Amino acid sequence: MLSIKNLQASVEEKQILKGLDLTINPGEVHAIMGPNGAGKSTLGNVLAGRDGYEVIGGSVDFHGEDLLELDAEERARKGLFLAFQYPVEIPGVSNMEFLKASVDAVRESKGLAPYTSVEFIKLAREKSKAVNLPADFLKRGVNEGFSGGEKKRNELLQMMLLEPSLCILDETDSGLDIDALQVVADGVNSQRSPDRSFIVVTHYQRLLDYIVPDYVHVLAGGKIVKSGGSELAKELEAHGYGWIEKETV
Ligand code: ADP
Ligand code: MG
Ligand code: MG
Repeated sequence: MLSIKNLQASVEEKQILKGLDLTINPGEVHAIMGPNGAGKSTLGNVLAGRDGYEVIGGSVDFHGEDLLELDAEERARKGLFLAFQYPVEIPGVSNMEFLKASVDAVRESKGLAPYTSVEFIKLAREKSKAVNLPADFLKRGVNEGFSGGEKKRNELLQMMLLEPSLCILDETDSGLDIDALQVVADGVNSQRSPDRSFIVVTHYQRLLDYIVPDYVHVLAGGKIVKSGGSELAKELEAHGYGWIEKETV
Protein backbone atom coordinates (compact mmCIF):
# COMPACT_ATOMS: atom_id res chain seq x y z
CA MET A 1 0.00 0.00 0.00
CA LEU A 2 2.71 2.49 0.99
CA SER A 3 6.36 2.23 0.14
CA ILE A 4 8.71 4.99 1.27
CA LYS A 5 12.26 4.81 0.00
CA ASN A 6 15.17 6.98 1.09
CA LEU A 7 12.85 9.92 1.80
CA GLN A 8 14.61 13.20 2.42
CA ALA A 9 12.73 16.38 3.22
CA SER A 10 13.42 19.82 4.57
CA VAL A 11 11.51 22.54 6.36
CA GLU A 12 12.67 26.13 5.99
CA GLU A 13 15.92 25.02 4.34
CA LYS A 14 16.71 22.69 7.22
CA GLN A 15 16.89 18.99 6.35
CA ILE A 16 14.71 16.99 8.76
CA LEU A 17 14.15 13.62 7.04
CA LYS A 18 17.47 12.07 6.07
CA GLY A 19 16.80 8.87 4.16
CA LEU A 20 13.71 7.29 5.67
CA ASP A 21 12.49 3.86 4.56
CA LEU A 22 9.12 2.39 5.52
CA THR A 23 6.81 -0.17 3.91
CA ILE A 24 3.21 -0.64 4.99
CA ASN A 25 0.94 -3.42 3.78
CA PRO A 26 -2.86 -3.36 3.86
CA GLY A 27 -4.35 -3.95 7.30
CA GLU A 28 -1.18 -3.21 9.25
CA VAL A 29 -0.81 -0.84 12.19
CA HIS A 30 2.63 0.76 12.47
CA ALA A 31 3.59 2.84 15.49
CA ILE A 32 6.25 5.50 15.06
CA MET A 33 7.99 6.56 18.23
CA GLY A 34 11.05 8.65 18.86
CA PRO A 35 12.47 11.59 20.71
CA ASN A 36 10.99 15.06 20.43
CA GLY A 37 12.16 16.85 17.30
CA ALA A 38 13.06 13.58 15.54
CA GLY A 39 10.87 14.37 12.53
CA LYS A 40 7.74 12.32 13.30
CA SER A 41 5.28 15.11 12.57
CA THR A 42 7.37 16.15 9.57
CA LEU A 43 6.88 12.65 8.12
CA GLY A 44 3.10 12.90 8.51
CA ASN A 45 3.03 16.37 7.01
CA VAL A 46 5.22 15.36 4.06
CA LEU A 47 2.99 12.35 3.34
CA ALA A 48 -0.15 14.47 3.55
CA GLY A 49 1.39 17.06 1.22
CA ARG A 50 1.17 20.06 3.51
CA ASP A 51 2.67 23.37 2.43
CA GLY A 52 6.12 24.26 3.66
CA TYR A 53 7.60 20.74 3.48
CA GLU A 54 10.02 20.25 0.63
CA VAL A 55 10.93 16.79 -0.59
CA ILE A 56 14.57 16.79 -1.68
CA GLY A 57 15.05 13.09 -2.38
CA GLY A 58 13.60 9.60 -2.33
CA SER A 59 10.23 8.22 -3.39
CA VAL A 60 6.80 7.43 -1.98
CA ASP A 61 4.53 4.97 -3.70
CA PHE A 62 0.88 4.85 -2.53
CA HIS A 63 -1.43 2.25 -4.12
CA GLY A 64 0.99 1.99 -7.03
CA GLU A 65 1.08 5.72 -7.69
CA ASP A 66 3.73 8.36 -7.11
CA LEU A 67 2.28 10.08 -4.04
CA LEU A 68 4.68 13.01 -4.26
CA GLU A 69 3.18 14.03 -7.62
CA LEU A 70 -0.25 14.59 -6.07
CA ASP A 71 -1.43 17.69 -4.22
CA ALA A 72 -2.82 17.45 -0.68
CA GLU A 73 -6.46 17.21 -1.78
CA GLU A 74 -5.75 14.49 -4.32
CA ARG A 75 -3.95 12.49 -1.66
CA ALA A 76 -6.97 12.77 0.63
CA ARG A 77 -9.28 11.72 -2.20
CA LYS A 78 -7.08 8.70 -2.83
CA GLY A 79 -7.54 7.55 0.74
CA LEU A 80 -4.86 9.21 2.85
CA PHE A 81 -6.02 10.77 6.10
CA LEU A 82 -3.90 12.79 8.51
CA ALA A 83 -5.36 13.59 11.89
CA PHE A 84 -3.70 16.73 13.11
CA GLN A 85 -1.75 17.01 16.29
CA TYR A 86 -3.37 20.41 16.87
CA PRO A 87 -6.63 20.43 14.91
CA VAL A 88 -7.53 23.81 13.46
CA GLU A 89 -10.65 25.80 14.27
CA ILE A 90 -12.75 26.99 11.35
CA PRO A 91 -15.24 29.44 12.84
CA GLY A 92 -18.40 30.04 10.81
CA VAL A 93 -18.31 26.65 9.05
CA SER A 94 -20.39 24.05 10.83
CA ASN A 95 -18.87 20.69 11.52
CA MET A 96 -21.68 19.09 9.51
CA GLU A 97 -20.97 21.24 6.42
CA PHE A 98 -17.26 20.63 6.72
CA LEU A 99 -17.65 16.86 7.07
CA LYS A 100 -20.15 16.58 4.26
CA ALA A 101 -17.93 18.59 1.89
CA SER A 102 -14.92 16.38 2.61
CA VAL A 103 -16.88 13.14 2.40
CA ASP A 104 -18.57 14.17 -0.86
CA ALA A 105 -15.20 15.10 -2.38
CA VAL A 106 -13.94 11.59 -1.65
CA ARG A 107 -17.15 10.04 -3.01
CA GLU A 108 -16.91 12.08 -6.18
CA SER A 109 -13.39 10.77 -6.85
CA LYS A 110 -14.78 7.23 -6.50
CA GLY A 111 -17.51 8.03 -9.00
CA LEU A 112 -20.24 8.14 -6.36
CA ALA A 113 -22.99 10.76 -6.07
CA PRO A 114 -22.85 13.16 -3.11
CA TYR A 115 -25.00 12.26 -0.12
CA THR A 116 -28.33 14.02 0.18
CA SER A 117 -28.53 16.17 3.33
CA VAL A 118 -30.99 13.76 4.91
CA GLU A 119 -28.76 10.74 4.26
CA PHE A 120 -25.68 12.52 5.53
CA ILE A 121 -27.30 13.81 8.72
CA LYS A 122 -28.46 10.31 9.55
CA LEU A 123 -25.01 8.85 8.94
CA ALA A 124 -23.18 11.61 10.84
CA ARG A 125 -25.47 11.22 13.85
CA GLU A 126 -24.95 7.48 13.92
CA LYS A 127 -21.14 7.83 13.80
CA SER A 128 -21.17 10.66 16.38
CA LYS A 129 -22.85 8.30 18.78
CA ALA A 130 -20.12 5.73 18.20
CA VAL A 131 -17.45 8.20 19.35
CA ASN A 132 -19.53 9.64 22.21
CA LEU A 133 -20.07 13.06 20.67
CA PRO A 134 -23.50 14.60 21.25
CA ALA A 135 -25.43 15.34 18.05
CA ASP A 136 -25.34 19.12 18.65
CA PHE A 137 -21.60 19.01 17.95
CA LEU A 138 -22.42 18.67 14.30
CA LYS A 139 -24.02 22.12 14.31
CA ARG A 140 -21.10 23.90 15.95
CA GLY A 141 -18.19 25.57 14.12
CA VAL A 142 -15.39 23.16 13.22
CA ASN A 143 -13.44 22.58 16.44
CA GLU A 144 -14.74 25.91 17.81
CA GLY A 145 -14.57 25.82 21.60
CA PHE A 146 -14.03 22.04 21.60
CA SER A 147 -12.03 20.61 24.48
CA GLY A 148 -8.89 18.58 23.71
CA GLY A 149 -10.81 15.31 24.04
CA GLU A 150 -13.68 16.57 21.92
CA LYS A 151 -11.31 17.59 19.12
CA LYS A 152 -9.81 14.11 19.09
CA ARG A 153 -13.24 12.48 18.99
CA ASN A 154 -14.13 14.81 16.18
CA GLU A 155 -11.05 13.66 14.25
CA LEU A 156 -12.18 10.09 14.79
CA LEU A 157 -15.64 10.98 13.52
CA GLN A 158 -14.06 12.50 10.44
CA MET A 159 -12.01 9.35 9.92
CA MET A 160 -15.05 7.09 10.25
CA LEU A 161 -16.96 9.13 7.69
CA LEU A 162 -14.10 9.40 5.19
CA GLU A 163 -13.19 5.69 5.34
CA PRO A 164 -9.56 6.24 4.32
CA SER A 165 -7.23 3.40 3.40
CA LEU A 166 -4.28 4.92 5.26
CA CYS A 167 -4.79 6.86 8.50
CA ILE A 168 -1.96 8.80 10.04
CA LEU A 169 -2.64 9.71 13.64
CA ASP A 170 -0.12 12.18 15.03
CA GLU A 171 0.04 12.29 18.83
CA THR A 172 -3.65 11.52 19.01
CA ASP A 173 -3.08 10.75 22.67
CA SER A 174 -1.56 14.09 23.67
CA GLY A 175 -3.58 15.88 26.32
CA LEU A 176 -6.12 13.08 26.75
CA ASP A 177 -7.23 11.68 30.07
CA ILE A 178 -7.55 7.93 30.41
CA ASP A 179 -11.28 7.82 29.51
CA ALA A 180 -10.80 9.91 26.39
CA LEU A 181 -7.82 7.76 25.46
CA GLN A 182 -10.00 4.69 25.70
CA VAL A 183 -12.63 6.26 23.43
CA VAL A 184 -9.97 7.13 20.85
CA ALA A 185 -8.44 3.67 21.03
CA ASP A 186 -11.84 1.96 20.73
CA GLY A 187 -12.64 4.19 17.75
CA VAL A 188 -9.38 3.32 16.01
CA ASN A 189 -9.70 -0.37 16.82
CA SER A 190 -13.23 -0.44 15.42
CA GLN A 191 -11.85 0.94 12.14
CA ARG A 192 -9.10 -1.65 11.78
CA SER A 193 -9.77 -3.82 8.77
CA PRO A 194 -7.84 -5.99 6.29
CA ASP A 195 -7.64 -3.14 3.79
CA ARG A 196 -7.08 -0.18 6.09
CA SER A 197 -3.66 0.66 7.53
CA PHE A 198 -2.57 3.01 10.26
CA ILE A 199 0.50 4.99 11.16
CA VAL A 200 0.20 5.87 14.83
CA VAL A 201 2.72 8.50 15.90
CA THR A 202 3.17 8.66 19.61
CA HIS A 203 5.76 9.91 22.04
CA TYR A 204 4.53 7.62 24.81
CA GLN A 205 3.93 3.92 25.05
CA ARG A 206 0.60 4.36 26.88
CA LEU A 207 -1.60 4.57 23.78
CA LEU A 208 -0.08 1.34 22.47
CA ASP A 209 -1.52 -0.59 25.41
CA TYR A 210 -4.89 0.09 23.79
CA ILE A 211 -4.01 0.20 20.10
CA VAL A 212 -1.67 -2.76 19.77
CA PRO A 213 0.53 -2.21 16.71
CA ASP A 214 1.88 -4.88 14.37
CA TYR A 215 5.18 -3.01 14.10
CA VAL A 216 6.97 -0.36 16.13
CA HIS A 217 9.60 1.89 14.56
CA VAL A 218 11.94 4.34 16.19
CA LEU A 219 12.50 7.54 14.25
CA ALA A 220 15.61 9.39 15.34
CA GLY A 221 17.69 11.93 13.46
CA GLY A 222 15.36 11.82 10.45
CA LYS A 223 15.52 8.06 9.82
CA ILE A 224 13.98 4.85 11.07
CA VAL A 225 16.81 3.53 13.24
CA LYS A 226 15.11 0.49 14.73
CA SER A 227 12.02 -1.63 14.01
CA GLY A 228 10.38 -4.39 15.96
CA GLY A 229 7.10 -5.78 17.20
CA SER A 230 4.86 -4.29 19.88
CA GLU A 231 7.35 -5.40 22.59
CA LEU A 232 9.77 -2.72 21.33
CA ALA A 233 7.42 -0.04 22.64
CA LYS A 234 7.67 -1.54 26.13
CA GLU A 235 11.47 -1.59 25.94
CA LEU A 236 11.44 2.07 24.93
CA GLU A 237 9.14 2.92 27.81
CA ALA A 238 11.49 1.20 30.24
CA HIS A 239 14.84 2.32 28.85
CA GLY A 240 14.19 5.51 26.83
CA TYR A 241 15.80 6.22 23.45
CA GLY A 242 19.43 6.63 24.53
CA TRP A 243 20.39 2.96 24.10
CA ILE A 244 19.23 2.96 20.47
CA GLU A 245 21.19 6.06 19.68
CA LYS A 246 24.29 4.36 21.13
CA GLU A 247 23.55 1.14 19.24
CA THR A 248 23.20 2.91 15.89
CA VAL A 249 26.13 5.35 16.06
P1 ADP B 1 8.60 15.41 16.20
O1 ADP B 1 7.19 15.36 15.70
O2 ADP B 1 9.33 14.12 16.06
O3 ADP B 1 8.69 15.95 17.58
P2 ADP B 1 8.93 17.43 14.16
O4 ADP B 1 8.75 16.72 12.88
O5 ADP B 1 7.78 18.22 14.67
O6 ADP B 1 9.43 16.40 15.26
O7 ADP B 1 10.17 18.40 14.06
C1 ADP B 1 11.43 18.00 13.54
C2 ADP B 1 12.32 19.22 13.41
O8 ADP B 1 11.81 20.07 12.39
C3 ADP B 1 12.41 20.07 14.65
O9 ADP B 1 13.75 20.50 14.78
C4 ADP B 1 11.48 21.21 14.37
O10 ADP B 1 11.88 22.37 15.05
C5 ADP B 1 11.59 21.36 12.87
N1 ADP B 1 10.34 21.85 12.26
C6 ADP B 1 9.22 21.15 12.08
N2 ADP B 1 8.25 21.87 11.50
C7 ADP B 1 8.79 23.10 11.31
C8 ADP B 1 8.32 24.33 10.75
N3 ADP B 1 7.08 24.44 10.24
N4 ADP B 1 9.17 25.38 10.71
C9 ADP B 1 10.43 25.26 11.20
N5 ADP B 1 10.94 24.14 11.74
C10 ADP B 1 10.15 23.08 11.80
MG1 MG C 1 7.10 17.12 18.80
MG1 MG D 1 5.38 15.78 16.51
